[in-house]
Amino acid sequence: MKVPLLDVKAQYEENNLREEIIPLIDEICSAQAFVFGKRLENFEQAIADYSQCKYAVGVSSGSDALLISLMVEGIGYGDEVITTPFTFFATVGAIWRTGAKPVFADINPDDFNINPELIEDKITPRTKAIMPVHLFGQTARMDRIMEIAEKHNLAVIEDAAQAIGAEYQNKRAGSFGDYGCFSFYPSKNLGAFGDAGIVTTNDKEIYEKLKMFRNHGADPVTRYMHEYVGGNFRMDSLQAAVLHVKLQYLDKWSRARQENADLYRKLLTTNKIKLPVNIDKATRHIYNQFSIRVADGKRDELQKKLSESGIGSAIYYPLSLHLQKCFSSLGYKEGDFPVSEQCSRDILALPVYPELKKEQLEYIAETINNAFKG
Ligand SMILES: *Cc1c(COP(=O)(O)O)cnc(C)c1O
Repeated sequence: MKVPLLDVKAQYEENNLREEIIPLIDEICSAQAFVFGKRLENFEQAIADYSQCKYAVGVSSGSDALLISLMVEGIGYGDEVITTPFTFFATVGAIWRTGAKPVFADINPDDFNINPELIEDKITPRTKAIMPVHLFGQTARMDRIMEIAEKHNLAVIEDAAQAIGAEYQNKRAGSFGDYGCFSFYPSKNLGAFGDAGIVTTNDKEIYEKLKMFRNHGADPVTRYMHEYVGGNFRMDSLQAAVLHVKLQYLDKWSRARQENADLYRKLLTTNKIKLPVNIDKATRHIYNQFSIRVADGKRDELQKKLSESGIGSAIYYPLSLHLQKCFSSLGYKEGDFPVSEQCSRDILALPVYPELKKEQLEYIAETINNAFKG
């Protein structure tokens, strides 16, 4: 049996996507209307509603969603932004690109998200924002993070790239902070046919600024008058149309991922692995990844065994970001963030995509259980 880590082709084939999407693409091509317009606006409103926010601004990628939010917030050289060292590179890359300094706080070993109790120690007069990441589809502990941000008057930019529709205390990812940044990279739960992203907000002023900044900071009315320097961070209407169709299926897909996770919890019986923990107040985990932790330094061995059995898996993330060469000037060293470092050594993501068949999942669980027998 062969089980890939992710099968986006199955998603395209098993739903009505082709029949719905191809005519829309044809229409857009006939109209040659690729930038801005009603399709983008409708999709933005749909995501704002879905994420329980007032506004959403489509952008070119999740990475650019993070970058544009930092730019709108006026963050740059001399400023500091507190974030997690255990995330996809883009989170910290965005901070770095503004000229600001990323400051790390270690994570919780159970949910892989930033530990709020470690944040206050990292705040200095230069701190401008906190950038929590909702890793693997489970939200960070947003009640505490918002409390700290309010107390110290800091902006909160949520990296919700992996967490569209995830909930904490029944509130959706992207609706807690000043900015919610989402990615529609094809491997995310809602994936485009290429790159796209979006920023959600409840603040009218931020909303207006985001719209200017994605278009080189131009005033939408006077057009060639620039109050700010932004960039070209636009989402094109082809992606908006594709994503709007796929959005109708997102809840079904998220439910299927949750069911797969539940089945893993039932079938994975070996005590040599630790299953991902659903924290109390995270009321909806959308499982962009199902990441287990493997005991006794046996992670790489298990991954090899899975691969030999035709099962795809992946390590997110193999090197904690404070140890990356490109950030060496920050002066961090091994041992600075022990939880993050330990997770990078023992974590392993298993297939959890919605189209995964029950037999496939049973085969994976059996292979893992057997790997630790005798
Ligand atoms: C995917 C991802 C991003 C970047 O999104 P892109 O659309 O690929 O640019 C940022 N942060 C996290 C946590 C991600 O998983």
